[in-house]
Amino acid sequence: MVMNRRVSRKVYVGDIAIGGDAPITVQSMLNVKTTDIDGCVAQINRLESVGCDLIRLAVPDEASAEAFGEISKRVGLPLIADVHYSYKLAHAALKNGAKKLRMNPGNMTDFGEIEELSKRLIDLGVPVRVGVNGGSLAPKYRGMNEVDALVESALECADVFEKYGMRNIVVAIKHSDPLVNAAANRKLAAVCDYPLHIGVTEAGTLRSGLVKSAIGIGMLLNEGIGDTIRVSLSADVVEEALAGKKILQTLGLREGADVVACPTCARTQIDVSRLANEIEIKTANINKPLKISVLGCPLNGIGEGRDSDLGIAGGETRSVILKDGEIFETVSNEQLMQKFEALLAEII
Ligand code: SF4
Repeated sequence: MVMNRRVSRKVYVGDIAIGGDAPITVQSMLNVKTTDIDGCVAQINRLESVGCDLIRLAVPDEASAEAFGEISKRVGLPLIADVHYSYKLAHAALKNGAKKLRMNPGNMTDFGEIEELSKRLIDLGVPVRVGVNGGSLAPKYRGMNEVDALVESALECADVFEKYGMRNIVVAIKHSDPLVNAAANRKLAAVCDYPLHIGVTEAGTLRSGLVKSAIGIGMLLNEGIGDTIRVSLSADVVEEALAGKKILQTLGLREGADVVACPTCARTQIDVSRLANEIEIKTANINKPLKISVLGCPLNGIGEGRDSDLGIAGGETRSVILKDGEIFETVSNEQLMQKFEALLAEII
């Protein structure tokens, strides 16, 4: 069971809350050019369809800031602009509907500009995310204990805005080593009440990134630390959102469908991996507990699906659909998904 959640202040990204007693949110970052408006809208819609809560887009130039405005008009989710340190782009992103900014105040030295930006953020009620990545620590921290340096640097970034009255601040410390990442976030969590954005940075490929993120994010969440999470993968953005949701679900921090699938063996009669993946995507947006089994043979599959709400025990030409652990119907494999989806729609 997850330990008591750390108490943090609450901020709002549009109408979605981060921190306080708000559900822990899952976010992802688009990996197409922001100027590719159709491409961005398509990715956002795919992310929304699997239950991603928040989406970040890079705003590296004026053209991207303009495109950001077009994109935010075409989608339902509040968008976060990843600006880093340009005041001009920060203001342009705000003008174009950004509901949260990611800034990198380590590189911001013009206090007049910071004050002006803070005032505008306060007026708009738009929060800012600041923080530090393992690879981007300022030279002055070299030689210091790395965990202490990360915490000190992150707090210093928050102070840049806090000094001008900004309260809506989310802080992130990210490191590519999940253990260093956890140590730094624990320390940060103990000394401030900022809502924390948790993730393992540069986690890697689908395989390696999932393992590092599940451990790195999972252990912090299990200790009650973390208000919004991002799984960073060198893979399709939808994988990031699905993985984030699965981490929360596994820790009992979010309800949803759980697709269990057999590992397959010499008795397997159907493509279990394809079916399970397809069902996982189709059920990703379900927000209530639902156990779904995908088993590769009727003989053992029917028994193994007994504790499922819904299940499939696949046969070579005909497969069994299970409901509440019992045989519901036997259908041809051509009709399998259609029948399964119809039953799913009935019970959710
Ligand atoms: S359910 Fe059937 S196919 Fe799957 S691992 Fe068990 S015996 Fe093999």
